[in-house]
Amino acid sequence: ASLQRIRAVDEQVKAFLTLDEEGALKKANALDRRLAAGEAGGLLFGIPAGIKDNIVTKGVRTTCASKILAHYEPIYNATVMDKLDAADAVMVGKTNMDEFAMGSSTENSAFFPTRNPWDLERVPGGSSGGSAAAVAAGEVVFALGSDTGGSIRQPAAYCGVVGLKPTYGRVSRFGLVAFASSLDQIGPITRTVADAAYVLQAIAGHDPYDSTSADVEVPDYTAALTGDVKGLKIAVPKEYLGDGIDEGVRRRVLEALEVFASLGAEWEEVSLPHSDYAVACYYLIAPSEASSNLARYDGVRYGVRAEADNLLDMYKQTRSQGFGPEVKRRIMLGTFALSSGYYDAYYLKAQKVRTLIKRDFERLFERYDVVIGPTAPTPAFKLGEKVDDPLTMYLNDICTIPVNLAGLPAISIPCGFSDGLPVGLQIIGKPFDELTVLRAAYAFE
Ligand code: GLN
Repeated sequence: ASLQRIRAVDEQVKAFLTLDEEGALKKANALDRRLAAGEAGGLLFGIPAGIKDNIVTKGVRTTCASKILAHYEPIYNATVMDKLDAADAVMVGKTNMDEFAMGSSTENSAFFPTRNPWDLERVPGGSSGGSAAAVAAGEVVFALGSDTGGSIRQPAAYCGVVGLKPTYGRVSRFGLVAFASSLDQIGPITRTVADAAYVLQAIAGHDPYDSTSADVEVPDYTAALTGDVKGLKIAVPKEYLGDGIDEGVRRRVLEALEVFASLGAEWEEVSLPHSDYAVACYYLIAPSEASSNLARYDGVRYGVRAEADNLLDMYKQTRSQGFGPEVKRRIMLGTFALSSGYYDAYYLKAQKVRTLIKRDFERLFERYDVVIGPTAPTPAFKLGEKVDDPLTMYLNDICTIPVNLAGLPAISIPCGFSDGLPVGLQIIGKPFDELTVLRAAYAFE
């Protein structure tokens, strides 16, 4: 059914970069045989999934939507893929994204843009735009995305689906192609909050292959699906509802807070005083880490190699031809911020601001259980609207970026429409408290 749906709609939506029809059918048939033999099935038995193309899949092309990896076939699986396999999920293909996850619209894919199923003239958000669009268009039941500065939550918001970024360290990053290693986190994109709980259950946990994955017990996430939020204490940062936030988005968020109040939760307006610096801070730290991580694409070890007379030229030509403009911009920004003489003024300063942002949240979590606001300042914008203006594109991440800088878990869930386009509500939780985030989200849904 999933493959049929993809055949029917993906020519318009263009959520997939690669389909693995053969692999999917083989797996589905094997599951069928196990069912017939009366064997017990895993948590995600037979559920079709789309996987963002920066998660490595053994024997299935993994491009990061970049020309430099256009023909790269990994020889191993990301830990999340082994875990999904163990849970009996069925991957049907790899989803489109902004090149190396750098972007907020999926227009930075080196291959083609994905379209928003709600309005094909609009972007699905990004960078996990293919994953969100595939779920919204009914092509798969769930997808995996990655979130460095909002890339799971913002596309989920734009496509009217659920997107969960777990706490940094909750899910293994082994086999996730690194963008900004101190921020990257894999998470589910689903139609419902319950589905997000099931998928997180399957992929969470400590992994000896990822030294930054946390050895923290994974609770039973279905315990969050109660509908009970009586006494829940909600903080609403005034910075997330102020200037630059679309009026329709603001209204939907305030209405959502009324729903929480009617369910017995309490909310108060608070302040996150360093929010104003989050975007600047992120756009120093993320490109710095990216410039270092992307040094490995030298034409020797991975992917495409350009013709040249000598080694240096080969590096230069490979990287000039292989990377798109946004990736080059980030490498230049990051290399500059890390260079001697500038390191203290930019990178080190940004790290200090990051600590202040983290402390803002810590202070709130002494008195509140969750922080609520919009996921993105506006609903989905038109294709092409922001491509020539990177700064406006960066400012779109204003509500999601602080969460990555602080390493917190957060979910985006649909909370109505503005001018006919889906609006996302963001619920942010304490470190490793995905349970409360899911509980609040489920009660609202
Ligand atoms: N839009 C942000 C960026 O371009 C976030 C991307 C992400 O989370 N991968 O860096």
